[in-house]
Amino acid sequence: MDNGPPVRRLADWDHDRLVAFADRFETPLYVLDRERVRENYRRIDSAFPDAEVMYAAKTNTGRAVLESVLDAGATIEGAAAGELQRAIDAGADPNDLQYTAVNPPDRELEYAVDLAAEAPGLTITAGARDTFDRLEALGYSGRVAIRVNPGIGTGHHDDVATGKHAKFGIPGDDLPAVADSVRERFDLVGVHAHVGSGVLGDEIDEHARALEVVADLAKGVEPIEFLDVGGGFGVPYREDTDPLDLDRVADAIRDAVAGVDADLKLEPGRYVVADAECIVTRVNTIKEVGSTVVGVDASLATLVRPAMFGAYHPIRNVSAPDREATPVSVGGPCCTGADVFCTDRPIARPERGDVLAIGMAGAYGYDLASQFHSQPRPAEVAIDGDHVAVVRRRETIDDVTRVERSG
Ligand SMILES: *Cc1c(COP(=O)(O)O)cnc(C)c1O
Repeated sequence: MDNGPPVRRLADWDHDRLVAFADRFETPLYVLDRERVRENYRRIDSAFPDAEVMYAAKTNTGRAVLESVLDAGATIEGAAAGELQRAIDAGADPNDLQYTAVNPPDRELEYAVDLAAEAPGLTITAGARDTFDRLEALGYSGRVAIRVNPGIGTGHHDDVATGKHAKFGIPGDDLPAVADSVRERFDLVGVHAHVGSGVLGDEIDEHARALEVVADLAKGVEPIEFLDVGGGFGVPYREDTDPLDLDRVADAIRDAVAGVDADLKLEPGRYVVADAECIVTRVNTIKEVGSTVVGVDASLATLVRPAMFGAYHPIRNVSAPDREATPVSVGGPCCTGADVFCTDRPIARPERGDVLAIGMAGAYGYDLASQFHSQPRPAEVAIDGDHVAVVRRRETIDDVTRVERSG
């Protein structure tokens, strides 16, 4: 089966089709390519032939994405009750789900315990002693994994280098004692660590060192069924960044965990969906103020990563890609200086009415979209070859106000 090229750039999307979608479905609009989701999943799954490759649902919980990864053979990891529910709605067998409980509210733990009563194959991962106590108090005695914090991590931004954060996992030194106490009360099946995000290039070596620490810790609590090394596989947001060398990563991870007598599990998120979705947005304002400021209808409510992480997203004038490139700033309709997608970036000179595409929007895109400024969230269209379907309708202002009452 064709696993596709290692990265799909914005230039590789069919520009005429994106412009036609903008005309037909209005903007801003998310455009998802289901086949690209399946290709990405198959590529990473083939690089780890002996491992179980789950998909981390929080990255993009759209129904079309979950159906696509399930089609490609993935199982699903969810870090919230709603994610598990949506995985089941998309056709996942609840016995194959893994629930990662991060500071779980009571109702979320109760949801998982109720689900496990019907689906004993479900695994619950927890990273705090009292989460295990709460599971016991709910009468749970099934499959659990312990999330461990090796104290080091890698990634493109401190907020996502989760290995460094005490919020996540049991400190490595405490693992043996916690494992003993957990084994007395539950079916301890695994050790889990998610130690970074957006790992690319030479960061792989640092990531592998963190996983060596995790592997040593996991060895100390054998027998276990699996060692889950999380996600964190990076994607090249910038046009001049090389895609991840999957074979090198697979070798590094295999070497790091070689000493552990357990099956390997992975749970990539970003890698599976980032380049499978873009946003199309229309230019509504052009202002010459020494520099050129381009106003579009997408905003930080549509895609928050640039405002939140200073993230780079490629932008292309898909209406007129051959026009001469000129440095422009592109911003949306929110009244905050943070609502800017790029500053002084060369883009084929935009004119009012042009359609711009914002690339690499599939990961932490729609799921972090908000109704800030009372903006209805955008529609989403999924393509699969020639097939086109609106998989999320555009919200209306009524959707924004629906839950409110006068007190
Ligand atoms: C977010 C998350 C992932 C996916 O991380 P990526 O960097 O998107 O691959 C995997 N596992 C857990 C527990 C997560 O919270």
